[in-house]
Amino acid sequence: MPSEIVQWGPCCFCGLDMAKTSVDPCRLTVETCNGLWQTWFCHAACFKEQLSDRPELMGMMEPAHF
Ligand SMILES: [Zn+2]
Repeated sequence: MPSEIVQWGPCCFCGLDMAKTSVDPCRLTVETCNGLWQTWFCHAACFKEQLSDRPELMGMMEPAHF
């Protein structure tokens, strides 16, 4: 029996369930300047869709691992 069970809900962007893949689910953690943090789970593809692709940024927002 596993000592730790990782659970996640639906994707925080599209609201659909996620199957485990090599990149999903992504754990999205936001930390405020005061050090308060919260975590969500999402599809890598849904997260990527939210990133700016403005040409003048020259791929600065491109995820490194997916
Ligand atoms: Zn999604």
